[in-house]
Amino acid sequence: MTKEELWQSVLAQIQLSVSPANFATWFKNTKIVGVNGSSVIIGTPNAFSKEWLEKKYGKTILKILRNLNTQIKKIEFQVISHKPPKNFAQKSVEYPDQLKFEEFYLDKKTNLNPKYTFENFVVGPFNELPHAAAWAVSENPGSGYNPLFIYGGVGLGKTHLIQAVGNKVLENFPNKKVRYVSSERFTSEIINAIKNQTIDRFKRSYHQIDLLIIDDIQFLSGKEKTQEEFFHIFNSLYEANKQIILSSDRPPKAISALEERLRSRFEGGMIADIGVPDFESRVAILKQKMQEKNIFFDDQILEYIAENIQSNIRELEGALNRLIIYQKINNQNVDLETAKKLLKRIIKPQAKRVSFQKVIDIVAEFYNLKPKDLFQKTRKQEIVRPRQIAMYLLREEVKLAFPTIGKKFGGKDHTTAIYAYEKIAKEIEEDETFSEEINIIKERIYAL
Ligand code: ADP
Ligand code: MG
Repeated sequence: MTKEELWQSVLAQIQLSVSPANFATWFKNTKIVGVNGSSVIIGTPNAFSKEWLEKKYGKTILKILRNLNTQIKKIEFQVISHKPPKNFAQKSVEYPDQLKFEEFYLDKKTNLNPKYTFENFVVGPFNELPHAAAWAVSENPGSGYNPLFIYGGVGLGKTHLIQAVGNKVLENFPNKKVRYVSSERFTSEIINAIKNQTIDRFKRSYHQIDLLIIDDIQFLSGKEKTQEEFFHIFNSLYEANKQIILSSDRPPKAISALEERLRSRFEGGMIADIGVPDFESRVAILKQKMQEKNIFFDDQILEYIAENIQSNIRELEGALNRLIIYQKINNQNVDLETAKKLLKRIIKPQAKRVSFQKVIDIVAEFYNLKPKDLFQKTRKQEIVRPRQIAMYLLREEVKLAFPTIGKKFGGKDHTTAIYAYEKIAKEIEEDETFSEEINIIKERIYAL
């Protein structure tokens, strides 16, 4: 086995156990550079990834290597320099020498919100990687991961994390020029600059930035002119070793209507995704927020919130705020029962806790039928309608596929289920009383 093949087999095995984003981040540009006696030397693209690989993956890598070749006793990591991507913007942008201070209208406007810091950012397995990368960038902007591309779902901390970098960089390097901007704002600035014929000034101001942070970059999708201007700004900053941080709700390859050249730039740096926080992290975040707001609730209450709100940190915070407001207004401590009542509207019942049978039982009961009546082959209105409602709820709450629903009701195909679903959905929208009726059924379905 050549050392390339050896490394390929290691990578193939590691790939099975780590997420694609982690894999791309940590194993890209790694290789076996040589063998030193019984020790294998693994080359990494930079000091940060060296440290991370050693700490996080060292044992695993050694184990895999040993399985492949029992003579291997040790591994060592070594930083190897790696070349910048090919074809990277050859033309360099000219910098105006004499830029009047007043002309640099962005100077003091970092747009950063000082409340987003690393200190109040809770780290757990779900965001460990993006956090580590963001931290590394804030210690050494422009010299490691460029661009840093953070992606993840709504309310999972992208804005918080990328702004924390901005705030940290200002703390570490007070003279650096940092600018945070949302994609929407960036787009409208460009449109205005074009309209007012100040595009050169606009570009110059951006060329002065040491750290440019653009949030929700997916909104550049389809905006060709903005993408073009951004491409030039990106290149000139990149070439001058200025740091760029981007966030998005999806990875670069999933952003539609994005110029290929931009996509490949985004992919040329470090991509890290924020996942959904696990239970412990959710509780830790709630504790962090309580501390910030200087208010305290029982662990039981925090755990109740953390159990029921799972996929959005902003909603976790919202739940907590609701309790805080209640406590302040009523000047009385919130107990678990009160908390449950207060949060009823926010906490969406978990679909997976509802079973097919539960829906059938409750719908039948509500319409004074026996569960098996719902499956009768009949056109009687007293049965057809509850059956349609059951189908609707099975789709909406249990998330069953239409063909499954169709089959359960003995239909030949799924068109009956789709028809029922659409009919009921439309009626809910149009008829408030009926909508209330459905809500009552839902409440019963989810009642403990
Ligand atoms: P996104 O930009 O991904 O939609 P935000 O950064 O706006 O999400 O985060 C939503 C809310 O959750 C913010 O108030 C933020 O402070 C909070 N938050 C997110 N992640 C964390 C975390 N790891 N620790 C503490 N608070 C967090
Ligand atoms: Mg955001």
